[in-house]
Amino acid sequence: MNQRKPRGQVPSLTGHVLARSLAAEDRAEDAGQLDPDDRLTCHVHGRWIHQCVSSPVHVNPVTRHRWCRDCAAELTVAVDELARTVTMRCPRCGQGSSAATTRLMAACRASLSHASSRSQPRLVA
Ligand SMILES: [Zn+2]
Ligand SMILES: [Zn+2]
Repeated sequence: MNQRKPRGQVPSLTGHVLARSLAAEDRAEDAGQLDPDDRLTCHVHGRWIHQCVSSPVHVNPVTRHRWCRDCAAELTVAVDELARTVTMRCPRCGQGSSAATTRLMAACRASLSHASSRSQPRLVA
């Protein structure tokens, strides 16, 4: 419906906690208090990071977020919301980890547990 970039506007079904976290992380990031890699929310998609990390937007060959340099391939993402696990793996060599990917997975795990314990908002920012 709305084709414009949804920054700051979150669909109602995604919830109040997400909206608050997004706004707080935007402010903290702008103030230099939060590294973009440590965000639990995604300002591009307006979602928790684990909900949109499989989007091609989250692949970056330069920083090697979700990128296997050896194979020049995108890592595939598997999110298990029940077990609260996130795995990223190169479809060619089965590995493809990097410092950036490890950090991205940590953020996804944190957003998973944060989103599923929505009665207790405890955002670090
Ligand atoms: Zn995203
Ligand atoms: Zn690979």
